[in-house]
Amino acid sequence: MVLPGDRLEPLQGWGMAVSSAGYVYRPSTLDQIRAVLELAGAEGVPVVLRGSGCSYGDAALAPEAVVLDLSRMTRVLSWDPEAGIIEVEPGVTIAGLWRYALGDGWWPAVVTGTMEPALGGCLAMNVHGKNCWQRGTIGDHCLELDLLRADGTLETLSREHEPELFHAVIGSFGQLGVVTRARLRLKRVHSGLVEVRALAARDLGSMLEIVDREKDDWEYVVGWIDAFARGRRLGRGLIHLARHLEPGEDQTPAQSLRVEHQDLPSTIAGVVPRELVWRGLRPLTNRPGMRLVNLAKYLLGSTLGHETTYRQSLAEFSFLLDYVPGWKRIYLPGGLIQHQSFVPVASAERVLAAQLELCRRAGMPSFLAVLKRHRPDPFLMTHAVDGFSLALDFPVTAPSRDRLWDLVRQMAELVVEAGGRFYPAKDVAVPGELYRASFADGQPAHLARLKDRLDPEHRLTSALASRLLG
Ligand SMILES: Cc1cc2nc3c(=O)[nH]c(=O)nc-3n(C[C@H](O)[C@H](O)[C@H](O)COP(=O)(O)OP(=O)(O)OC[C@H]3O[C@@H](n4cnc5c(N)ncnc54)[C@H](O)[C@@H]3O)c2cc1C
Repeated sequence: MVLPGDRLEPLQGWGMAVSSAGYVYRPSTLDQIRAVLELAGAEGVPVVLRGSGCSYGDAALAPEAVVLDLSRMTRVLSWDPEAGIIEVEPGVTIAGLWRYALGDGWWPAVVTGTMEPALGGCLAMNVHGKNCWQRGTIGDHCLELDLLRADGTLETLSREHEPELFHAVIGSFGQLGVVTRARLRLKRVHSGLVEVRALAARDLGSMLEIVDREKDDWEYVVGWIDAFARGRRLGRGLIHLARHLEPGEDQTPAQSLRVEHQDLPSTIAGVVPRELVWRGLRPLTNRPGMRLVNLAKYLLGSTLGHETTYRQSLAEFSFLLDYVPGWKRIYLPGGLIQHQSFVPVASAERVLAAQLELCRRAGMPSFLAVLKRHRPDPFLMTHAVDGFSLALDFPVTAPSRDRLWDLVRQMAELVVEAGGRFYPAKDVAVPGELYRASFADGQPAHLARLKDRLDPEHRLTSALASRLLG
């Protein structure tokens, strides 16, 4: 048997900075997935799993592999509107989830900054949201999942049945098997609105102090940092806190819980079609332009916006990045990478300040910097610590590529020294030895042992797994 050439498609990481071509299959049933795994086995070709392809880097890529794209598996298998428990196929997206359940008064307990990721991909990376301190990761809300091994064996995993494997599969970036079904518990909401409070922080110390102080009182806490600021203004930025409304606070909950009420407006400021906004931003996508954008955002937020309170729809607050469709195209032709490191509380100010300084000295300040507060979770390959994460976006250009990868290595060394972690969903440049060194208790070796047991021929692969696990 020969893999048909017409199946060979070019694919990219979401950030468009890395790519590979693969034999793409888009099954819609379990039997079809089994058939693809069998075909790949017979041909001796590795398989890479893919959800919506929203990982910034090389997580869902592998050169000349069979690509098992699960985005057509979008069925909701069962829904209990009393208990808020939903059972879905792996291609159901975050958007699919909230659109299905909101009318009954439920919202996903954890959502990402875009609503496009699929649940199989979200579980494989164990994603977090702006409420990670309060609610943990998506794995904390998964009750049960089906795992299809590379040899076609299907098993159901949960905290009660095979808990070790359950906690290893979630967060193991698709290396132990295909998640073909998941049962999740959603969160009860009494309104489709949240109350948002905006604050400004004059430097990194006060940014960390405010986020830490507010984290127990608000469901969502997120900081934005002006990565161009320096000296005593280093780390200055804006903080957004948000909470769900209690019963009775929203006079028209039946209306705000309707999907149509949540949909993002088709224009910005009532005039500019959202689809066109990225073109307007493009001329500013360079260092002076982004310095200006960051400065303007900080000045507005720290004057007019400071200490304001307002209401927003859940979708508007949660998926700010979806507001500008196709915004990543401002980074063409080279694309962008993101580096998100997780640092324990005690060393956060020192390490994050040093990272921002490293970027500045390298002449590569991050165009977009986002801070979150995290708590540890019980999953084997967890990226979370009791501390802060800082996600930094960088444009990639041919002349700067090597220097950028070197900058990420330098930032990663600081994180490892401080006992921090990295997030594979956002990564493409952390060297494998630093990733492995970030685990003090031999978790990568444990994952390797499980892989030898579940996938002895190492049929499941990815460029990310080869880079990080060696
Ligand atoms: C604009 C933007 C904002 C984001 N914001 C956040 C955020 O706030 N928080 C956060 O945590 N992440 C965030 N992310 C990252 C994103 O949520 C993760 O990368 C997520 O894994 C993407 O899901 P996906 O379906 O696109 O998976 P893919 O990117 O396609 O795949 C991710 C991994 O999952 C594996 N995989 C896919 N499907 C399966 C399956 N069925 N079974 C087993 N393994 C599988 C793949 O092999 C790969 O290793 C953001 C990404 C973008 C682009």
